[in-house]
Amino acid sequence: MNETYRHKRVTESDTTLNAILDLIVEGTWDWNGETGHVTRSPGWYRMLGHEIGVFQENVFTWENIIHPDDYKRVMAHFEQYISGQSPQYLIEYRCKKSDGSYLWIVDRAKILAYKTDGTVARMIGAHHNIHDKKLAEDEVKKLNKLLQQGNMSLENLTKIKAKKLQEKNQELETKIKEVDLLSNIDPLTSIANRRSFEKELSKELLRSRRYNHPLSLAIFDIDLFKNVNDTYGHQIGDVILQKLCKLISDNIRELDFFARWGGEEFVLIFPELAIKKALIATDKLRKIISQFEIAPNLYITCSFGVTECTDNDSIEDLFQRIDNSLYQAKSNGRNRVESR
Ligand code: GH3
Ligand code: MG
Ligand code: MG
Repeated sequence: MNETYRHKRVTESDTTLNAILDLIVEGTWDWNGETGHVTRSPGWYRMLGHEIGVFQENVFTWENIIHPDDYKRVMAHFEQYISGQSPQYLIEYRCKKSDGSYLWIVDRAKILAYKTDGTVARMIGAHHNIHDKKLAEDEVKKLNKLLQQGNMSLENLTKIKAKKLQEKNQELETKIKEVDLLSNIDPLTSIANRRSFEKELSKELLRSRRYNHPLSLAIFDIDLFKNVNDTYGHQIGDVILQKLCKLISDNIRELDFFARWGGEEFVLIFPELAIKKALIATDKLRKIISQFEIAPNLYITCSFGVTECTDNDSIEDLFQRIDNSLYQAKSNGRNRVESR
């Protein structure tokens, strides 16, 4: 038992208690259940901006200052405590101030005595100003909500952007493929162009070396094509070039590679073919061309230069050999196949 205060009379001790309470909390109240009288501390009046003692000292004063939106909740909690359903009385709510605004407080109370019928004889409580804390909490909640909404819309935005980006990427990929295809194809004849041929030849050279498989290369050139152009016109010349390409494409193997080297010169890669078989293949093509009526009553011939690739050959070496062979074929009377 604390011996600090030794009061001779109850009123004396009450005075001490009230003075202490006035110092440590904003407002205290002391409800006498027998008489209905409520004593409120000066701090309580100050907290709400009122002159001390302006209100009637009963419970109605309290009920009248509770925010209408909090009223039901406060009464329910109060009922629960005094009926013994709740072990404590502790609740936050708003109280009306003298200027009409509301102040958030926390209300804590304890029953000190019961009447013989079990109802409350005395209950004391303390009101504490928690307005700033409450406003800060509300602000945090609001910010959280905004943040969540913001995050969600940001997330949606990101999803939409990602989808659009994906679509754009797909478009771009298709375009790149188209461009890539176009850049590898000769526009007049729709067969592979020189660029594509060079890539393919490097690839095939590596492959033949890796597996030690034979590889042959041929070039062919339309004989006296200038005359054809001169006689039938450039446009017919173009059609003849297209028809020749179709004829060759139809008469080579799937794995052979056929490209336009430029003008009326074409190249062929024969994977897996050594010179002997490459010569047979090219001579077969030479014959097919010469026997094909490429335009009404018009036949053309081609001269071929063929070579087989060896391990030490550079691309330049190969071209030098097939060019020389082609030159040889032309010099030897055209419509021929020559090799080195
Ligand atoms: P050779 O047997 O010695 O090869 O004689 P050639 O007349 O074929 O040789 P030349 O190099 O003198 O002429 C090639 C001709 O091919 C000239 C050119 O007009 C023609 N030519 C090249 N490219 C095209 C083309 O894309 N379309 C058309 N119509 N003609 C082309
Ligand atoms: Mg020619
Ligand atoms: Mg030529």
